[in-house]
Amino acid sequence: MHRKISDRLFERACRVIPGGVNSPVRSGRSVGVRPFFVKEAKGCRIRDEDGNVYIDYVCSWGPLIAGHAPVQVVEAVMKAAAGGTSYGIPSRLEVELAEQVAALVPSMEMIRMVNSGTEAVMSAVRLARGFTGRNKVIKFNGCYHGHSDCLLVASGSGLATFGIPGSPGVPEELVQHTMSLRYNDLDVVEEAMEHMGGDVAAIVLEPVAGNMGVVPPRQGYLEGLRRICDRYGALLIFDEVITGFRVALGGAQERYGVKPDLTCLGKIIGGGLPVGAYGGRRDVMQRVAPEGDIYQAGTLSGNPIAMAAGLAMLDIVRRDGVYEELEEKASHLAAGLGRAAEEAGVPMTLNRVGSMGCGFFSRHPVTDFETAAQSDTRAYAVFFREMMERGVYLAPSQFEAFFVSLAHEKEDLDATVEAAGEAFRATAAVLEAP
Ligand SMILES: *Cc1c(COP(=O)(O)O)cnc(C)c1O
Repeated sequence: MHRKISDRLFERACRVIPGGVNSPVRSGRSVGVRPFFVKEAKGCRIRDEDGNVYIDYVCSWGPLIAGHAPVQVVEAVMKAAAGGTSYGIPSRLEVELAEQVAALVPSMEMIRMVNSGTEAVMSAVRLARGFTGRNKVIKFNGCYHGHSDCLLVASGSGLATFGIPGSPGVPEELVQHTMSLRYNDLDVVEEAMEHMGGDVAAIVLEPVAGNMGVVPPRQGYLEGLRRICDRYGALLIFDEVITGFRVALGGAQERYGVKPDLTCLGKIIGGGLPVGAYGGRRDVMQRVAPEGDIYQAGTLSGNPIAMAAGLAMLDIVRRDGVYEELEEKASHLAAGLGRAAEEAGVPMTLNRVGSMGCGFFSRHPVTDFETAAQSDTRAYAVFFREMMERGVYLAPSQFEAFFVSLAHEKEDLDATVEAAGEAFRATAAVLEAP
């Protein structure tokens, strides 16, 4: 497989775009590759500029639950675009999408559209702070909520850390109210709330973590957080930017039966276009301007093309049997990968919830960021490269999810498992070498 055209494009990109990419993990640095450049994509396959074809398990990091360029979404986008690309004036599509979301995710009584997941969570946190009149926010190690300042908090080795910015350029003053705790551990939350519960505006989390690999919530964890929030008058915010319309039609809150006060959506809701949304309890959402006093705005929010794409995507996932099909496909793939790893003697811990999953190169159960971090990232990098050479594109990081879409057919999954068998053997050989 050669990638001469991609390599030339990457050289050009690096001169005008930092690191050659518009989002860091795409660069492939953590697995030791240069990125390829996409020419086109359809279904579960991507063709790069050099004509190489890959079965794609990144799926644009989650939005493409129906694969690349599904006919319904493409047609909806073209039709909408012909009627104008942006109005800055309300249009029918915004109402329809908001109504659909409210019907599918009942805790979202009112909804505000934004342009990204980052914006959705940032706005939800502002709203929670404004509504409660409190400043502190609890998040969890390994959960990603976009790159807004107050949520970009790195945290130490499982210890509660206060106010350590995750990046230069984030002033300590801006994150001093953000506390990051161990995921899946109710005791640390209880303890933190005993100290400062009266100052906590919100507990925000990914109800299934998807940015440290995939880590499902322990039984009773989400219910426990709900109880704690109720006891202390803090809002519970589910960041369902990945899990919304992914792990069930109604998201993780439907799958686990726990109702948050506010929900953040992104990815699938935009059908592959830049959309985010936040919403929840009517009494809380009524505080958003202009109905209320908490400011949040957006020039392109509710963009007609993006709304049309979102509506078309929801039409697809609302069909009967979609989530059963995804479950079946993903469990078929996961079982095959598990077998292939075992046969090659490569230790692997496979976490999966519906059509999102992660194979950690680890002998141990992975239940939080601290255990995820014990994975052998060198082994993952080898495996990733071996898979890429065999025409399978996985996330270029151990700590990202794989996504199975409706466009992955049984033959694609079987071809993937076969490639994985060879790739695991190659990985084992490299790891055994002195
Ligand atoms: C992707 C993601 C975000 C950020 O969304 P963007 O559209 O990239 O800004 C926020 N939260 C979670 C859980 C995500 O996976």
